[in-house]
Amino acid sequence: MTRTTVSRTIPLAGRQVRVENIKASVCADCGETYLDGPSLLKIESKLLKQPVLAKT
Ligand SMILES: [Zn+2]
Repeated sequence: MTRTTVSRTIPLAGRQVRVENIKASVCADCGETYLDGPSLLKIESKLLKQPVLAKT
């Protein structure tokens, strides 16, 4: 496994939210990218901060 950083575009409430610099592991055999737990949490916390979700 090689460490790298990736970007993901995630659909949220009808918008596309770009999350960059996510730490990930790349499989040396098949080239597939795996996100670990902390990376998934980072994505989640970024999504939760989106103004679209900040309903008053
Ligand atoms: Zn693989």
